[in-house]
Amino acid sequence: MTSEQWGQVREGLKSELGEHNYINWIEPLEFADLDGQVARFVVPTSFMGTWVERNFGARILELIRDNGITVSRLEFVVANRDRTPAGRKPAEASGQGAPNAPAGAAPLPGSDLLQGAPLVPHYTFENFVVGKPNALAHAAARRVAEGAHVAFNPLFLYGGVGLGKTHLMHAIAHELRHHRPEARVIYMSAEQFMYRFVQALRERTMMDFKSVFRSVDVLMVDDIQFIAGKDSTQEEFFHTFNALVDQNKQIVLSADRAPGDIRELEERIRGRLHNGLVIDLHPADYELRLGILLNAIRQLSEDFPGVRIAPGVAEFLAQRITTSAREINGAARRLFADAQITGHEITLDYARACLADLLRIQERKLSIEEIQRKVAEFYAIRLSDMIGPKRQRVIVRPRQMAMYLAKQLTTRSLPEIGRRFGGRDHTTVMHAVRKIEELRRDDAQIAEDLDALRRQLEG
Ligand code: ADP
Ligand code: MG
Repeated sequence: MTSEQWGQVREGLKSELGEHNYINWIEPLEFADLDGQVARFVVPTSFMGTWVERNFGARILELIRDNGITVSRLEFVVANRDRTPAGRKPAEASGQGAPNAPAGAAPLPGSDLLQGAPLVPHYTFENFVVGKPNALAHAAARRVAEGAHVAFNPLFLYGGVGLGKTHLMHAIAHELRHHRPEARVIYMSAEQFMYRFVQALRERTMMDFKSVFRSVDVLMVDDIQFIAGKDSTQEEFFHTFNALVDQNKQIVLSADRAPGDIRELEERIRGRLHNGLVIDLHPADYELRLGILLNAIRQLSEDFPGVRIAPGVAEFLAQRITTSAREINGAARRLFADAQITGHEITLDYARACLADLLRIQERKLSIEEIQRKVAEFYAIRLSDMIGPKRQRVIVRPRQMAMYLAKQLTTRSLPEIGRRFGGRDHTTVMHAVRKIEELRRDDAQIAEDLDALRRQLEG
C-alpha cells in the first residue's frame, strides 16, 4: 500500500467516523508496511493498537481492500521511542534511519529521505531459532551483522512466505545499531524504495534521493520481487546497487523466490546477484518447528503469566502446523490468549478445539516433506533416500508409497511431486501411483501399511 492509498483510506475513515474519532485514533497511526497480507502500523501505545483494532479494524480492512489491495489482517507495532542511541540528537538519529521512523508518512524533505521502515523490536537474533533449513541464512546474516568487512555482496535471501527473511533482516539492523551505532543502516521494502523513487521524481529531488541512498553503509531491501517489471525503478535500483557495491558497502536483499525465477527481473541485476551470496531458506522441518514453538511458548509464558500448558501440546502442534513460522507463532499466541481468558490449562484437547479451524486448513496443507519423513521413518530408511538415486527395492517401494500418498493427500501436481523427489520426471510419479494402486489390491501388507501411514499423516 502506498502512502497515497493509505491517505485515501484515512479520508474514508474521517468522513465515516467524524473529526473527533479521527483525530484521536486514526491520525496517530503510521502505516509501516504491507508484509505478505499483513498491514502493519506503528502506534504510540499498545492500548491504542488494541482499541483501534477492536473498534475500527474491520472497517479499515474493508477500506484497504476497496483500494484493490489484498490484506488479511492488521498488525500494530508499538513505536519504540527510546531506541535512539544515547548521546545523539534525535534529528541526527532519524537522519540515519532510526528504527522508529514512520515509513509511509507524508512526503519528507531532504535528509529525512533516509528514514527506513520501522523495525519490529522482537525480530532479533536472540529470538531466531536456528535449524537445518535456515542455518546457512542465519550464519550469513550473522556475518553481515558483525559488520567487520564485506565478505559477500549482496547477500540475497530467498524463500517462501513466513520463513524468516524479514526477521533476519531486522535482526541484522538491530545488531548493527547496537554494535556500530555510527553505521548508516537502512532497511525498507522494495515497495517503499519504489515509492521514494517515484516521489523523488515527482518532487524533483532526484539528486537528494541518489546521494542519500549512495551514502548508506548497509542497505537492506526486502521483497525485491516487487520491483521486477517496474522499469524505471529497477533502473535506479541497479545504479544505487552498483554505486554501493563499488564503495564496498553491504547490501542485503530478499525475495520470495530465486533470482532466476523472478520474471522481468533485469538480466544485469540478476547477474550482479550471482556475484554475491544467494541463500535459500527451506520450509521448517519438524525439529525446527518444535524449536520455534518452544521459543514462542517461553515468551508467551512471560506475557501471559499463570497460563499452564500440558506436556505433548508443543509436539502435537509442531507435527500439525507445517506451513510457516508465522502460523506457528500465531497459533501459540491464540492458545495463550484464549487460555488466559477462559482460565483453562492448555491441554491437547483444548488445543484441538481452540485451533480447530487452523488445524483443518493445515490438514489440507500436508506437505510432501512431511509425507516423505513419515514414510521414511515407517520403513526405517533414510530421508535422503527418498530423493536420492538408489534403485534397490527396499528404497524404491517406500519412495513409491510416498509419491502415491503425496498424490492422494496433497493438491500437488505430478510434475511438482516429481520435483520434490529429487527432480524426477512426472512419468515416474505416474508410474509409482499406478504401481501402488495395483499392489494395494493384490498385497495385503501394502494395503495395511498404507492405511497405517494415512492414519498417521492425517493424525
Ligand atoms: P518472511 O519475511 O520470510 O515472510 P518473517 O520474517 O516475516 O517471514 O517471519 C514470519 C514470522 O515467523 C515472524 O513473526 C518471525 O518472527 C517468525 N519466524 C520466522 N522464522 C523464525 C525462526 N527461525 N525463529 C523464530 N521465529 C521465526
Ligand atoms: Mg518478509
